[in-house]
Amino acid sequence: MRVLFVEDEEKIAKAVKRGLEIKGYAVDTVADADSGLSYAVDPDYDIIILDRMLPGSMDGIEVAKKAREEGQKAPIIILTARGSIDDRVEGLNSGADDYLIKPFSFSELVARMQALMRRPPIATGTVLEYADLKLDPAKYEVQRDTTPIKLSNKEFALLEYFIRHAEQVLTKDMIINHVWNEDAIVMPNTVEVYIGYLRAKIDRPFPNKPQLINTVRGFGYKLSH
Ligand code: CA
Repeated sequence: MRVLFVEDEEKIAKAVKRGLEIKGYAVDTVADADSGLSYAVDPDYDIIILDRMLPGSMDGIEVAKKAREEGQKAPIIILTARGSIDDRVEGLNSGADDYLIKPFSFSELVARMQALMRRPPIATGTVLEYADLKLDPAKYEVQRDTTPIKLSNKEFALLEYFIRHAEQVLTKDMIINHVWNEDAIVMPNTVEVYIGYLRAKIDRPFPNKPQLINTVRGFGYKLSH
């Protein structure tokens, strides 16, 4: 899942980026409101986190409002140092989905992000399921049937993206834009390489079951059975 984090406090930005990347998210960080908005209109983000007080011509709430006006549909979380009810209402009216009062704990931020990214049709509690595959974004656990499967961060992120978009054709560009951040050096065959790693873990060890990661020739890949 690709995350935009707009935060001018470098220490927080770095720590959150590092923490989220360990958990398999692809994270872009921006430190002011105006570049924040230019990133926040990008439909490839799966979630956007905006600090409220930002240098530049507007605050985080206005960034959220303008991004929504430009058609951004991803969940938005506002970080605010102030916690009054009025602030909260203002934040939510702007198009933000949730707010978090600073200082916040990293685990709380992750819990809020995961709650907002849940998609009702495929989610049961916090666990995402497809066919006999189960992926728990909170515990970073994957199993097929009853067999636990160990995945690297990127493999996990790739599988999560597939399950959240099950039975949709995902092009290589879509995969790159949701699983890698903008600074990542992604070679043309990187996606194929990771698809190979994932197949070796979730499909090949189960030869008598449907192979779930399928190539759609000329278009991309699809999780289907
Ligand atoms: Ca700030």
